[in-house]
Amino acid sequence: MLLALLAVVPLVVDRVHLTERTRVERVQTAYAEVVGLARRARDAQVETLDATRALLQVVARAYTAAAAPASDCTAFLRGFISDAPWISSLSVVGADGRIACSTRRPAVGLDLSDRDYIRDVQRTREYVLSDYLLERSYEKSTVLMAFPIIRPDSPETAVLLAPIDLHWLARIGEGVESRPGTAAYLIDAKGTVLAGLQNHERLVGKRYGGHPLVAAVQTEPNGSATLAGFDGVRRIFGFAQLPGTDVRIVVGFEEREVLGRIERDAWIAYLHVAFFAALTMMAAWLVGEHLIVEPIRALARTATRIGQGDLEVRAEPESWAPEFAPLATALADMAGRLAARERELRAANRHLEELASIDPLSGLANRRSFDARLASEWQRAAALRHGIGLLMIDVDHFKLFNDGYGHVEGDACLRQIGQVLAAVADGPSEFAARWGGEEFVLLLPGADAARARETAERLRLAVMALRIRHDGAPAGFITVSIGAARLEPAPGARPDEVVEAADAALYAAKRRGRNTVVVDEPAPLARAG
Ligand code: GH3
Ligand code: MG
Ligand code: MG
Repeated sequence: MLLALLAVVPLVVDRVHLTERTRVERVQTAYAEVVGLARRARDAQVETLDATRALLQVVARAYTAAAAPASDCTAFLRGFISDAPWISSLSVVGADGRIACSTRRPAVGLDLSDRDYIRDVQRTREYVLSDYLLERSYEKSTVLMAFPIIRPDSPETAVLLAPIDLHWLARIGEGVESRPGTAAYLIDAKGTVLAGLQNHERLVGKRYGGHPLVAAVQTEPNGSATLAGFDGVRRIFGFAQLPGTDVRIVVGFEEREVLGRIERDAWIAYLHVAFFAALTMMAAWLVGEHLIVEPIRALARTATRIGQGDLEVRAEPESWAPEFAPLATALADMAGRLAARERELRAANRHLEELASIDPLSGLANRRSFDARLASEWQRAAALRHGIGLLMIDVDHFKLFNDGYGHVEGDACLRQIGQVLAAVADGPSEFAARWGGEEFVLLLPGADAARARETAERLRLAVMALRIRHDGAPAGFITVSIGAARLEPAPGARPDEVVEAADAALYAAKRRGRNTVVVDEPAPLARAG
């Protein structure tokens, strides 16, 4: 994740830098745009004035040549301005200062002799452009162009008068249709609003002397400034001076709107960056998780389970990076070796257990395992409330047998008796063991006295049937004496008691002349039976 972050940070920084630069550029572009609009409006106005002057020159010449077309004057004038829609009307002002004829009939007879522009033309015989006026008679701001009509034979000067519409405002309007909150004004040096674009027309005629905007646009002929306009809304203003006048065309974009668009674009750019960064981090996390973290976790899990003794478990490196394969193999090898060693240890343990629990001469259980088995059977019998039978077997006159045939023969004899005992022990519940010397025991869990006697008798006869020659014995071959006992574990009774009872019965059998079975039952059991 850290590496991915290190990779992403330079890209993010670069993108932020670019966005900030774009923001500055956009503000500069907005400035350039308003200044451009103001200049274009000014140029349009200059063009209009030039065209008007050229037209009036033609009209004046024609008027002179036509030798006072007073009768048909209106039609004459109309013919000229039909192709010049920005000229709202055309009038001829006589030498007396009164309107002699006009395309606007109500104006005929109006006395304009006190107007500066009429006086100036008559005096200088040059064309004159009036100040931008708010002519009540025209109901809008306008500029009047006065052009002298000079007859070579007359010292008097008539004047052609044309009010020019400020249709340049419409041109600005075309340029900013898609920009809400745009303002455009025509302001004179005193701060009078001579014209206004669209919904700023209501400001026309108002005077804003001393307003910061008026002060700002008067400092230089062309330029830009950001400040609150006449309606209090902050705008980025561009302005241009109309040549030959102190009138300024002012165009302003709402600052909030300009910055809002830039802010929105910047936000979108930042969102892109955030999305890209998040995507990169997520990809890094997923790849890291899948390629590195998950295999390590799986290997750790496997190692833990091997440590807990589950040596069959293996890591499954199907889709892992190949770098993890040696680790998985090493882990599997380790588990395999541990498993092999464990098998060896188990085998060795089994062998040792056998050695510790089996009598090597007879192949029967030894005394130690007999004691353990007796204790567990005793508990089981106590829980199941049944009895335990025990046969104690002793070879008759065995000392003599040893003396007569030797110890090796004695051992062989004992081995044969062990085999007989193992054969007589019926099923897994009956348990034969060598008690010690030439004495054996047979444990009969759940047996009653009759079954104990029957088993003992069967065993005695089976030993006799071996017909092991023993000249020192009265029968002439090997016999055994068997003491049998049966006990039901009473609370507080010990397993030893059944052994003692069987031993006592064996003693009795010896006294009765050997090669016989004596069954001993303690008094409480006898009562129960
Ligand atoms: P009894 O009929 O009264 O039992 O007479 P017995 O001679 O068998 O008397 P006792 O039980 O005292 O003698 C046991 C003899 O068993 C003594 C010993 O020489 C012999 N013996 C004990 N253990 C072994 C053995 O492992 N191998 C051999 N060959 N003889 C053993
Ligand atoms: Mg003995
Ligand atoms: Mg004996």
